Amino acid sequence: MTVVKASARTTKQAPAANFTGTVYSDEIVAGTAPSRMRASVVSFTPGARTAWHSHPVGQTLYGLSGVGRIQFKGQPVRAIEPGDTVLIPPAMLHWHGAAPNRLFSHLAMSEHSDTGAGTAWFDHVSDADYAAAPAP
Ligand code: MN
Repeated sequence: MTVVKASARTTKQAPAANFTGTVYSDEIVAGTAPSRMRASVVSFTPGARTAWHSHPVGQTLYGLSGVGRIQFKGQPVRAIEPGDTVLIPPAMLHWHGAAPNRLFSHLAMSEHSDTGAGTAWFDHVSDADYAAAPAP
């Protein structure tokens, strides 16, 4: 049995190359083969968000606290609240983050591809795209 104690790990700040604003990440698991499981709790300060990106095998987000935002390319911005599960298809261009005036944290779960490929990163999300009112 392996138990990784919370006190043995360090919260990491997400890199400015791929995020806007202040974002923290606490890794839960990065599986070793044959597992491809990866999970982290990601905490966004108000206004913070990922850049546009995609995941080769998709991603599942589970809202933990606060109020979040997510947008698939070409679709309206949507709110994410605690208890919501968002299923992101493979290769879907999208971003996620906090609402402009609220903290937000989610559990992020994904897997690497057969070839070991992970997240593909693109441009930062513009303030205009980010500021769109979420669809109901
Ligand atoms: Mn994502």
